Amino acid sequence: MPLRFSDLVDIPTLHRVMESLWRASGLSAGVLEPDGTVLVATGTQRICTEFHCRHPEGGRRCRQSEGLTRKLMEGSWLAEEGTFEYVCRNGLVEVAIPIVIEKRHLATLFLGQFLYRPPDEKFFRAQAVRCGYDEEKYLEALREVPVFSHKKVMDCVAFNASFAGLLAHLGAQKLKWTEAEGSLIEREKRLRLQNEAILRLGTLRSLTEGDFELATREILETTARTLDVERVGIWLFNRNRSKIRCFSLFELSGGKSSSGMELKVGDYPAYFATIEKDRTLTVHDVYTDPRTVELRDCYLHPRGITSMLDVPVRVNGKVGGILCCEHVGPVRQWSLDEQNFVSSMADLFSLALEGKNRRRAEDALRESEAKYRLLFTSESDAIIIFDPETLRVVDVNPAAARLYQYTRKEFRRLHLGDISAEPDKFRERVRETVSRDGLRIPLAYHRKRDGDVFPVEIASGLFFWKKRRLLVGIVRDITERQAIARMKDEMLSGVSHEIRTPLTAMIGFTQFLLDNDTDPEKQREYLAVILRESERLQELIENLLSLQRFRAGFGVLDLHEVAHLFSPTLEKHRLVIECPPGLGPVFCDEKKIRQALINLLSNAVKYSPDGGSITIGTRTEGDSALIWVQDEGIGVPEDSREQIFDRFVRLWHPALGKVGGTGLGLPLVKEIAALHRGRVWVESAPSKGSIFCISIPLSPPG
Ligand code: ADP
Repeated sequence: MPLRFSDLVDIPTLHRVMESLWRASGLSAGVLEPDGTVLVATGTQRICTEFHCRHPEGGRRCRQSEGLTRKLMEGSWLAEEGTFEYVCRNGLVEVAIPIVIEKRHLATLFLGQFLYRPPDEKFFRAQAVRCGYDEEKYLEALREVPVFSHKKVMDCVAFNASFAGLLAHLGAQKLKWTEAEGSLIEREKRLRLQNEAILRLGTLRSLTEGDFELATREILETTARTLDVERVGIWLFNRNRSKIRCFSLFELSGGKSSSGMELKVGDYPAYFATIEKDRTLTVHDVYTDPRTVELRDCYLHPRGITSMLDVPVRVNGKVGGILCCEHVGPVRQWSLDEQNFVSSMADLFSLALEGKNRRRAEDALRESEAKYRLLFTSESDAIIIFDPETLRVVDVNPAAARLYQYTRKEFRRLHLGDISAEPDKFRERVRETVSRDGLRIPLAYHRKRDGDVFPVEIASGLFFWKKRRLLVGIVRDITERQAIARMKDEMLSGVSHEIRTPLTAMIGFTQFLLDNDTDPEKQREYLAVILRESERLQELIENLLSLQRFRAGFGVLDLHEVAHLFSPTLEKHRLVIECPPGLGPVFCDEKKIRQALINLLSNAVKYSPDGGSITIGTRTEGDSALIWVQDEGIGVPEDSREQIFDRFVRLWHPALGKVGGTGLGLPLVKEIAALHRGRVWVESAPSKGSIFCISIPLSPPG
């Protein structure tokens, strides 16, 4: 609402003052607002009220004068030029003195309805005739009109001008007070709303504990509604601070949220330089402010944004993004309390973000602790944790305690020099692990409590535990692996021996046959030897190749079918198949399981020289499928039941005579079972026969 003079000055008091003035000076006076509202009128002359204003023609002239006055009052002329004197259309003198407050022309003080010289009766008589007044009564009223000297009027004008000035001053004071009061009330209202908003958000559980997306939306929506800003968004820098991405934006009019827009930092240097300096960006007019002009065409103009208030959002102590208030509509002046409020909102967002990060870190820690515990307590490898500075053991897992033959409590008192058989090398490796963040040591020698030195393979790395930088060593005892490697070498020489024996026989007999004329019977005998030796060689080579090229690959095997496959090869023996219905398909490498069965079946035939039944069966037992081959042969002595699964182990038995073999059949069965996460074993009663069992888990491999 436009401000009025009547709002600033007490009109009855003004009226009393003006009336006293009129009595003292005899000058009629009035105060009018620019729209023509008469606030005070004193000493009004009868000639005006009873004649000029009442009669159509006089009234028309009066209005003409008023129209002129209004024009003057509306324009800036009166306000700038000060006093204005004129003769009204009905012939009386008027002086207008503007009352200007804070450069606003709020009212005009009029002195008037007087004459400078005795009235020109001829003019007034003619006016009485023209307007149809009662001539005598009109002249009588005319005689009441005071006649003043110019000087007296000027004195009065000077007085009234000062008086108008005084009124203006008082008015200005009151105006200021009114405006201050208005803005104070306005500000208090704003502050109350802001405080309520901060209080509400501050106590919101979702802010630090719950759904981060929800908390963000709450913050943005509250900011938009409290400040009545159309668009409020959170923008976050990427890792190398080359881009800023809108994490979430709330639009007040549609009440909807969006996200995803990106701005390249390099495209808007002035804007981002301010943000990077951790400064609040208060822009009342985005089109003229040098910090935002560069955003005008691509961002501000298309969205109708006119004013912006951007506050840095701190993440872990530095500027991680901005809380951006974008005002749409006429240019807006941001108040200090609004800037403070947006800062508080940005702080609340930082709090929510840090809460989320903390929760994530806690989850990760919990997860890593769980993994650590799992790893640490797992039965597989030995784990030793030690301080890389002092080389003292901090903790070990039960597997380590078992391997080194200490109790865990004893182990925790050890220095790593106590378990390493090469302390100097050991220190060097610790240094390397620290500088490279991790190390794989393929071979080192450690010492057990009883002094036994054994080979180990170590994977070491650094990790932080309860704010300490520690070194973890995962130690694997490779005694067995080395033994196997040795065995491999032995096997190679063994194999070459095994190959050489049949080859020698084959070459010898062939040579003999070529060089000599032998009778047909002898020829047959020699050729049979050559054939037998060739078959042995073939078997040896096949087994060897299978061992070498073993690769996992799973198919579905119907065990029943495999059993049937083997039956035609038996002559002396009776084959029984015990395959109860209901055993479903087993996940396995069909070819390899078939190979294992063939090995077991051929052994059953070989090692039951008197014939008898051979039973092949399958059944489920718990979570496993069992495949077994039973014979009624020579059996396996108790002390050899494990040994026969090792390479090249063959047992002597008087009943066997010249039964050939390689000692590789059962090791292959063992490999195949292990490959299927299963195992093989033998149950036997000497002279009554043996049962060889393979068990494979029914669940498919993960
Ligand atoms: P090969 O049969 O070629 O000698 P294997 O590895 O298959 O080699 O078997 C190793 C040894 O285990 C055999 O030499 C034999 O002494 C013993 N063996 C295997 N199967 C049986 C069985 N069914 N009954 C008795 N002994 C067996």
